Amino acid sequence: MPQHTAGAGRYAPSPSGDLHLGNLRTALLAWLFARTSGREFLMRIEDLDRARDAGSGARQLEDLRRIGIDWDGDPVLQSERGADHAAAIAKLAAAGLVYECTCSRKDILAAPSAPHAPPGAYPGTCRDRSDAEREVARAAIAPRLPALRLRAPEGLRSLDFADLVLGQSRGDIDDFVLQRGDGTVAYNLAVVVDDAEMGVDQIVRGDDLAPSTPRQILLQRLLELPTPPAVEYAHVPLVLGPSGARLAKRDGAVTLAELGDRGVTPDVTRGWIATSLGLAAPGETVPVSTLLKRFNPAELPRTPWRWDPNATD
Ligand code: GLU
Repeated sequence: MPQHTAGAGRYAPSPSGDLHLGNLRTALLAWLFARTSGREFLMRIEDLDRARDAGSGARQLEDLRRIGIDWDGDPVLQSERGADHAAAIAKLAAAGLVYECTCSRKDILAAPSAPHAPPGAYPGTCRDRSDAEREVARAAIAPRLPALRLRAPEGLRSLDFADLVLGQSRGDIDDFVLQRGDGTVAYNLAVVVDDAEMGVDQIVRGDDLAPSTPRQILLQRLLELPTPPAVEYAHVPLVLGPSGARLAKRDGAVTLAELGDRGVTPDVTRGWIATSLGLAAPGETVPVSTLLKRFNPAELPRTPWRWDPNATD
């Protein structure tokens, strides 16, 4: 991988509970990608959601440290970045790229989809309302407030991007939400604005987020922020639980605290993760310094890791 003298990678957990093995593995990969390419590694707590669990951000950081991950500077709290998020929405609005949407989830499901629109795309119900129609629609949902949607460029229904793990990828674009009716800024908007502000030029995250990437690239372009190839993406395979579905807390001892109760130390857990990445032999305990020497993005497993809760090494 080319050596960078600037730029940064990042890990951006949502503080909705303790990190599990899958989260820790993604974090370790993001750290390895950044550190082996000469980048800084930054931390951002994505705490915009009201349902967030106040203490879990701090516990997540502690667990990341215990697994051997370090980062540069103080973690950024997304909830403190509201002014920049609002400025970005204002910039899009000034360019005529934002409209109010009063649709409920039910309205969207019931509406006929627009011709040639990707499956699940917003049908455009509120896109072309006159001022008078908008007032009526607003009054009809009061006291609920409208959401704000992006007016995606006419005819742009998908976008291609290069991914260091998935290869050349393509995903759909529609008039996605920028701000919810309750005033919360949407994930896609916040992540794009914050990554740019933090100087992040390498985004490594779980491949469940790959479908969001075209929307984020579109926002980068519209906001005149760095965009691929100046920003690189790597979407890494998830960890699956014993049933074959994405690993979840119900799959048993999956957090460092739960593993600790079973006598499994963070060093052993890191060894398991390293083994799953082909960076350690089964049962081998490896410090992160060794992982840095062994890591080669080209040799990363391209398939999910099926985790066996009864594994002992
Ligand atoms: N906060 C998101 C999550 O925990 C990740 C955002 C990102 O990496 O872009 O799923």
